[in-house]
Amino acid sequence: MGALQELLAGLGDGRIEALDLTAPLHGDTPILALPEEFGQTEPFRLHEISRYDERGPAWYWNNITTGEHTGTHFDAPVHWVTGQDGEDVAAVPPSRLVGPAIVLDRSRESAADPDHLLEVDDVRAWEQEHGPLPAGGWLLYRTGWAARGDDPQAFANADDTGPHTPGISVDCARYLAEETELLGLGVETVGTDAGIAHAFDPPFPCHAFLLGAGKYGLTQLRNLDRLPATGAVVLAAPLPIVGGSGSPARVLAFVEREG
Ligand code: MN
Repeated sequence: MGALQELLAGLGDGRIEALDLTAPLHGDTPILALPEEFGQTEPFRLHEISRYDERGPAWYWNNITTGEHTGTHFDAPVHWVTGQDGEDVAAVPPSRLVGPAIVLDRSRESAADPDHLLEVDDVRAWEQEHGPLPAGGWLLYRTGWAARGDDPQAFANADDTGPHTPGISVDCARYLAEETELLGLGVETVGTDAGIAHAFDPPFPCHAFLLGAGKYGLTQLRNLDRLPATGAVVLAAPLPIVGGSGSPARVLAFVEREG
């Protein structure tokens, strides 16, 4: 049997499960709020054109408005000043939209401390147990934050000092960007950086180092708790917005199950 026939057979008989890592996209989908001196992204909205009525008797359709970075979405290198000479989202080659994924679980630590930061030693400890990070693959950072995804306030977890959501330390972001062959970093939170990362040096180090290194980001992922630590294959499908800095994306994972 050919490799693609094998894939279809596995999907058909349950040896391979397709999981949706995408959050539903609607008007209450959480979005990033920046300090008010900065430009702001828009929430997702449907604008009805017609719905089987005088505007279109047999058809229903909508216009949509959305930010590029709304809901489950893909960060392209040009999103950050450090990656400004890199790929826009339409330029990402299709071969880099499919790859292996590992899951690094810090949900217990993130529940205990919403400002929890992944450190280089945590990555090294994971590699001791599971093997090297996958070349051309994703590190999916499981924090349990997806459970808050239907409640924008709990998701942002902000107080008068700003948002408090788990992330990655400056040293660890630099390590992942410069010392690994990862394709990118996927997270459950609103962005790849910690809520408090505006105060880091450099600010927003995941954005600065990973996008600067030509790597990618995936955010607001769901169902990471249903993935194995190793062995999943992820398909990330952003829209090819020409010149775009990112795009809402459908993200699927394929996982081998006992047949
Ligand atoms: Mn983004």
